[in-house]
Amino acid sequence: MQNRTVDVAVVGAGILGLAHAYLAAREGKSVVVFERHPQAMGASVRNFGMIWPIGQPNGRMHEMALRSRELWLEMLEMAKLPSRRHGSLHVAYHSDEAAVIREFVERAPGLGYECEWLNRDATLARSEALRPEGLLGALWSPTELTVDPRQILAVLPEFLRERYGVQFHFNTPVLSVVHPYVETARGSWEAGTTLICSGDDFETLFPKEFAASGVTRCKLQMLRTSPQPTGWELGPALAAGLTLRFYTSFSVCESLQALRKRFAEEMPEYDRWGIHALVSQTADGAITLGDSHEYGLTVDLFNKEEIDHLILEYTRSFLRVPDMSVAQRWHGVYAKHPDKPYIVLEPQSGVRVVTAPSGSGMTLSFGLAEQSMIELGLLSKESANV
Ligand SMILES: Cc1cc2nc3c(=O)[nH]c(=O)nc-3n(C[C@H](O)[C@H](O)[C@H](O)COP(=O)(O)OP(=O)(O)OC[C@H]3O[C@@H](n4cnc5c(N)ncnc54)[C@H](O)[C@@H]3O)c2cc1C
Repeated sequence: MQNRTVDVAVVGAGILGLAHAYLAAREGKSVVVFERHPQAMGASVRNFGMIWPIGQPNGRMHEMALRSRELWLEMLEMAKLPSRRHGSLHVAYHSDEAAVIREFVERAPGLGYECEWLNRDATLARSEALRPEGLLGALWSPTELTVDPRQILAVLPEFLRERYGVQFHFNTPVLSVVHPYVETARGSWEAGTTLICSGDDFETLFPKEFAASGVTRCKLQMLRTSPQPTGWELGPALAAGLTLRFYTSFSVCESLQALRKRFAEEMPEYDRWGIHALVSQTADGAITLGDSHEYGLTVDLFNKEEIDHLILEYTRSFLRVPDMSVAQRWHGVYAKHPDKPYIVLEPQSGVRVVTAPSGSGMTLSFGLAEQSMIELGLLSKESANV
């Protein structure tokens, strides 16, 4: 017999929904999660799986990312899920890239980042996946880790069900929420608090509030190789020069202006499609490559071959892996606000929408969920350890 009265109802089994469900259930709340698809199919299964504090701007967002990382590690350990805790390298092949990295490293201690400049040999000692020709050095940061998003999104619901009795209803769209009632395609529920983590679906629930919030979408193209030979390890997840102009953490560097100018002059097509290069490894050893950024509420259904070509060309300039042939191509879409790092809406008392963590939803998920739970009074500051 299902219990249709719960403390917390969560809409969406993406990473934000699961993070909220985990923290509420860990606190002893009764929790139900509704997902309209047979399994999560949104941004959370389409990403690199990078937990990437180094990309967050200093201050509140970087602190949230580090706290989120702690909660990720706690959850991964409890659920016995693997991760790659190898940190990250931002590699420099041009003197202006090295200049930005060196400037960032100089400022980093005062800004709360733990990182260092590695010379060429020290960089190559950390990663056998890098081309040595022309390599100048890299930014080494130990705080990044990689999970396999498809594995996490498939296994975490099982863990939450078994360990905490969280109820999951897949194939169950939520049609409306009028607090305390949650109307689904499979009947009505009553919840003390409803958390809506519906990703980039702005049209089903509270469409007027979404429209007024200014939220939009971003489409990203991605590629993946076949699993690499057994025993070959990527080591640290990789980023390169183009990434320095993408993550706001580096915007404190004055030398960034010259780097941006060179890219704009020499590689305008990379600016046009918002391309930078990130490289991570999945649980089965495949290499995930990306990505591009096309903004706007209307998402082009069709991928652009030019974008895949540009991503591959740039990535090949620094990456060397045993098998670089592409086995999978896809695109993902995330919700994004032009100015805010995420959005929280309260369309009714007892109902909270948490979405649009842009390209940082894996990184921020557990930290953002913890913040929500504290603000909603569902988690004490003591148990949140803050
Ligand atoms: C290609 C790509 C690469 C990325 N790489 C990274 C990365 O490496 N690191 C990082 O930190 N971030 C990354 N991101 C960002 C990150 O993936 C997202 O910010 C995050 O996954 C958003 O999670 P979410 O739970 O809000 O949304 P989603 O994962 O989209 O989940 C929302 C869920 O809600 C369900 N839903 C919606 N409406 C309803 C309804 N009415 N009823 C029932 N269910 C509903 C949807 O079906 C969906 O499953 C990347 C994103 C993309 C697209």
